[in-house]
Amino acid sequence: MTDRYAVIGNPIGHTKSPLIHGSFAQETRQDLSYTAIEGPLEPQDAFAATVRAFIADGGKGMNVTAPFKLKAFAMADVRSERAALAGAANALSFQDGRIVAENFDGVGLVRDIEINLNLPMADKRVLVLGAGGAVRGALLPFIAARAAELVVANRNLAKVELLVEQVAASGGALLACGYGELEAMGRFDLVVNATSASLTGELPPVPSSVFSPTGAAYELAYGKRLTPFLRVARDAGVLGIADGVGMLVEQAAEAFAWWRGVRPETRAVIDRLTIPLD
Ligand code: NDP
Repeated sequence: MTDRYAVIGNPIGHTKSPLIHGSFAQETRQDLSYTAIEGPLEPQDAFAATVRAFIADGGKGMNVTAPFKLKAFAMADVRSERAALAGAANALSFQDGRIVAENFDGVGLVRDIEINLNLPMADKRVLVLGAGGAVRGALLPFIAARAAELVVANRNLAKVELLVEQVAASGGALLACGYGELEAMGRFDLVVNATSASLTGELPPVPSSVFSPTGAAYELAYGKRLTPFLRVARDAGVLGIADGVGMLVEQAAEAFAWWRGVRPETRAVIDRLTIPLD
């Protein structure tokens, strides 16, 4: 019988996941179906009921997108360390009657930066803007990348200070700061915009002094062309600028490999989905 997978979110019309996983399945000759499910927002337990109905119908795994990542994490029986630090799941696997939660957002981001863009983070100064779900999911993979310095700036300082404590408990280190402190911190080799500011065409209050012409700037949002953040980076002379389409495809490849035991190629799918920045 064909194995069933799906992505669940609300809204879900914009999702690229069926196209990505369909391409992966074709390339790796895996017999599976992959659909998009619009999850119910209410009542409170309707999301879990939808997931359980999918499992009862033969579902093997799910990708989870906004706004259900916290609910997916909460209903899992087993959680990876990355998912636990994020408090959120972006992928579920249904194994022997148990729901296993993973979070591949961070590992997908790091793979895109280090492998696809050829920017190893080891010994580099790295600045991350934002302290939401995507950053929480990315912290362990970022720490594993062994940057010389990892700084996380956020408007709400309490949020990022909490992350410092959680990361310390996992044996890692990062420096938390507010945007007002960045001016005095000099240039960074890599600046990652992991805020959601670009979704509304806004610019996080980052000073242009953080950018290095020999460094890089990465925008997690994708398909938005030159966002205000990428524009500021480019105006500061940064040549290496990229958006998050590679992260999207890489996190999907991680989930696919987890579910199917075979790692798909990502380059052709990234190229197919890339919307040029200019
Ligand atoms: P969250 O809603 O969890 O967090 C949003 C973060 O953005 C918060 O830290 C918030 O700060 C900050 N923020 C929002 N607006 C501004 C602003 N105007 N100035 C400064 N900071 C701001 O979002 P996620 O972490 O889930 O997503 C973040 C981004 O990552 C989005 O653009 C999303 O589309 C993208 N993403 C991309 C993925 C991919 O595969 N490429 C995967 C997942 C996410 P505060 O805490 O102070 O309110």
